[in-house]
Amino acid sequence: MSDSPRNADLHCHSTASDGFLPPIEVVRRAHANGVDLLALTDHDTLSGLDEAEAEAQRLEMGFVPGVEVSVTFARETVHIVGLGVDRQNATLVAGLAGLRAGRDERARRMGKALEEAGLPGVYEGACAMAQNPEMVGRAHFARYIVSTGRMPDVSTVFRHYLGKGKPGYVEHEWAKLEDAVGWIRSAGGIAVVAHPARYGLDMHGLDHLFDRFVECGGEGVEVVSGSHSRDEVARYAELALKRNLLASRASDFHGVSESRMDLGQCPPLPSGLVPVWARL
Ligand code: AMP
Ligand code: MN
Ligand code: MN
Ligand code: MN
Repeated sequence: MSDSPRNADLHCHSTASDGFLPPIEVVRRAHANGVDLLALTDHDTLSGLDEAEAEAQRLEMGFVPGVEVSVTFARETVHIVGLGVDRQNATLVAGLAGLRAGRDERARRMGKALEEAGLPGVYEGACAMAQNPEMVGRAHFARYIVSTGRMPDVSTVFRHYLGKGKPGYVEHEWAKLEDAVGWIRSAGGIAVVAHPARYGLDMHGLDHLFDRFVECGGEGVEVVSGSHSRDEVARYAELALKRNLLASRASDFHGVSESRMDLGQCPPLPSGLVPVWARL
């Protein structure tokens, strides 16, 4: 595929959700790092896309409008990335608005739970950390708690307070898998399972997830992800081949302070896979 971009990065975040950089800065950083096809995929919102796309056009860098949709599947939270979505599509817009409406209610419950665990004022603190008031998430809670000096870094906060089963974790019903994939498809996008190694699903659960995902019209999987080890890349390359899925490559960059992988710095896709950008 001689016309394939050499450096595609198809999953990252801006201040429209829980990233540190405004959309324009994400695009500039990606460009400076040599990315030639970038998807901005904020959690449950399309609000950063216009700004990002305008800057990508100015820099003559390939740009894919994207989103990372929060899903509840088999009582686990699973993330489905939509690539190449039409941001005007009413079905997708309404679906994401519903998810955001649930976020503030969840954030208040998290605040209560943390207060009972001895951390008062965290809801207000988390809201102050978020640039987009509709998109207060666990990352903002974690950053606020770190800023109080009670914990050294966000991963420690997740381990003690915000991970599943910890005192600040509250159950929440996100989108259904078939709805998330349906919204993405009705907006003309390609649905991709994000960072498949990061879920609390065993082999059987993952098989079930991919069976259902494909039945609903899902087409891709992140083989290379900023959160995948080398072994995990190999495992999901095999899965992509076995299930005939398009393969994606994605840093999941949030900011220099919180991401292991910078924009455009992931290893290349293993050979023999069909890259999702062949279809974008
Ligand atoms: P939410 O959608 O509000 O539940 O937040 C999910 C986000 O929290 C992820 O996209 C990450 O940005 C962040 N996150 C989840 N788990 C961890 C972790 N163990 N360490 C650091 N950040 C995490
Ligand atoms: Mn995030
Ligand atoms: Mn994710
Ligand atoms: Mn992400």
